[in-house]
Amino acid sequence: MSILKVARMGHPVLRVPVRPLDRAEIASTTIQQLIDDMIETMEEYRGVGLAAPQVHEGVRLFVASLDAEESGDTRSEPVAIINPEIIVVGREMVEDWEGCLSIPEVRGRVPRAKEIKVRAFDRQGERVELSALDFPARVIQHETDHLDGILFFDRMRSLASLTFLEEYRRFWTKDKD
Ligand code: ZN
Repeated sequence: MSILKVARMGHPVLRVPVRPLDRAEIASTTIQQLIDDMIETMEEYRGVGLAAPQVHEGVRLFVASLDAEESGDTRSEPVAIINPEIIVVGREMVEDWEGCLSIPEVRGRVPRAKEIKVRAFDRQGERVELSALDFPARVIQHETDHLDGILFFDRMRSLASLTFLEEYRRFWTKDKD
C-alpha cells in the first residue's frame, strides 16, 4: 500500500465530474489497490473521507469512516462507496462545520440534508443501500460532491464562517459537545 498525493484546491482535477465504474472494473486489481491506498491516505492525513478525484483518479469512488466521530478518536472500519446516488429524506437541512483534505487548514459552515439514503456498490461490487443521519450523511454528501467537481465552498450560504483551523480551535470548538 502507499500514501497517495492529495490534490489541493486549484488543481483542475477537483473540478471535473468523473465516470462511474462497472462491476468488472471494481473487481480489478487496479481499483482494489486504489481503494486500499485511498484508505491508507485518508488515515495518514486523519480525514474521515477521501474521494478519488482528490488523488487524481477520475472515477466515482470514495472511502469514508462513517462511524467516526468528528474528533477522529473513534476508529471504525473505513468503507468504499462506488457510484453513489443520494436520495434526500425529508426536507430538514443542518448547517455545521466541514473541512477538506484538498483545502487544508480551513473550515466553514455548510448546509446539508440531515437525512439521506445512498444507493451504491461496495468494494465487492455488491449493491448496497445505506441510510445516514447527521454527521455520516454530511460526509457522504461532501464526498459525493467531489465526484461531481463540487467543493464545500460552493455549498456555503455565506463565506462569513470561513475559518483557519487554528482560529476554529480557538473560537469555535466550544459550541460543539
Ligand atoms: Zn473534501
